[in-house]
Amino acid sequence: MMDLFYQSGYDVVHCDDEADVYVVNSCTVTSSGDKKARQALRRFKRANPDAVVALTGCFPQAFPDVDKQIPEADVITGSYNRAGIVSAVRRALETGERVIEITPHKKGESFEKMAVKKFSERTRAFVKIEDGCDRYCTYCIIPKARGPVRSKQMAELREELRDLAANGYKEVVLVGINLSSYGRDLENTRLIDAVRLACSVDGIERVRLGSLEPELLTGEDIQTLASLPKFCPQFHLSLQSGCDATLKRMNRHYDSAEYLRIVQDIRTAFDNPSITTDIMVGFPGETEEEFAQSLAFAERVGLAKAHVFPYSVREGTAAARMPQLGGEVKQQRAAEMARLTDRTRRAFLETQLGRTEEVLFETEQDGYYHGYTKNYTPVLVKSEEALCGQIKCVKIESIVEEKCLGKLL
Ligand code: SF4
Repeated sequence: MMDLFYQSGYDVVHCDDEADVYVVNSCTVTSSGDKKARQALRRFKRANPDAVVALTGCFPQAFPDVDKQIPEADVITGSYNRAGIVSAVRRALETGERVIEITPHKKGESFEKMAVKKFSERTRAFVKIEDGCDRYCTYCIIPKARGPVRSKQMAELREELRDLAANGYKEVVLVGINLSSYGRDLENTRLIDAVRLACSVDGIERVRLGSLEPELLTGEDIQTLASLPKFCPQFHLSLQSGCDATLKRMNRHYDSAEYLRIVQDIRTAFDNPSITTDIMVGFPGETEEEFAQSLAFAERVGLAKAHVFPYSVREGTAAARMPQLGGEVKQQRAAEMARLTDRTRRAFLETQLGRTEEVLFETEQDGYYHGYTKNYTPVLVKSEEALCGQIKCVKIESIVEEKCLGKLL
């Protein structure tokens, strides 16, 4: 969207600067996302009452009657036809009238073309190749907010990757809402084909994947990925819970044994992979015993990192109608799970000590260059030589505040 505004002649400024137009791109995965979007809209309108303030993204798409609750929003559009934000804003600027355009998603809709050639980061580009989800996990509003599975055509992806390589990007991350379902609406195309394609583009030296639904990653896929030298072995396998009964109530499509088997397959196929995840605690009906099982499982997997969050009620989902746990219990469990995954993170970082890894450097501060290894371990190196945008071999020597410290070889 920023790119589209640029192309239409707008200057894009920081949100704390004064602007004629403010666009709040909302996330509705949790209720706190909705709250933050509301607060941002109000803050911008208060700071600049004459500006056009626009709300877009998943929040209005999932809850279209939001227009009545947020009179501050002069423009409201959803996640369908995201490119339409520019013309909606223009109309509001020209007419001074409120513009509300929330089109429901529909079966058979195609992937919206929105290629990005430049990102604010100069080394790593996020390439969205899939949108939508129809798995209907009982807690999740995303199928409503994002519509059916649809995929970027391979020819379009090839062109976008070549442009990114020409603009100097060395690493791409293929992302989607339900990335594992990539290609389901295309002929004879799967996620593995998109990875192969990305690895074949000259100039792109590293290829990563965004979050994956674990059971859609087959043993064969893992072997193929391991045969691609540019592929980065960082697997974000969405877990949500380590308790089988909870997983069932969540309508997840795997159990803990299957998850563990996939993790073991990855660890056998790759030399130094990392397994990261999302874990939800306090799901409706989660007993102390179920939570204890989830904790024990998270420990057993040996997670390199986890995003832990308390369950958040989303109106319109099946879980919203289940008996709920209190807020305090959810917060306590989130804190306990976070403490455990902090420990497993530390243990993972310790396994990196003494290793020699290739690091792609991204930023510099006070003479220290910061980058990531292929398995996404953050590494700091002191160097006189400018390293940003370069891949260098580093010996990892110590751990400082969640990062590894190393020296250039
Ligand atoms: S697979 Fe992910 S996006 Fe789809 S319904 Fe489940 S949690 Fe939501």
